[in-house]
Amino acid sequence: MLQLTRTRATGLREEKHLEENGRKPRFLVCVDCGEEFVFTASAQDYFEEKGYYQSPKRCKACHSKHKRGTQESINTSR
Ligand SMILES: [Zn+2]
Repeated sequence: MLQLTRTRATGLREEKHLEENGRKPRFLVCVDCGEEFVFTASAQDYFEEKGYYQSPKRCKACHSKHKRGTQESINTSR
């Protein structure tokens, strides 16, 4: 009885889990350095959570560089 209930609950959760995380890591090429980088399933989750519907164009290193640059230009333009 207990086991049945638990299996049912887990099964439901697993179905939902699959729906939400039915992603595969994607390999993208960085527009800045041309290096291939992995857009992991968890990163895709993160992007969607943040409301970004585009895939990242830069690898981690270039992204942080670009972010810093953007912040600087925003500061100077204001
Ligand atoms: Zn890069």
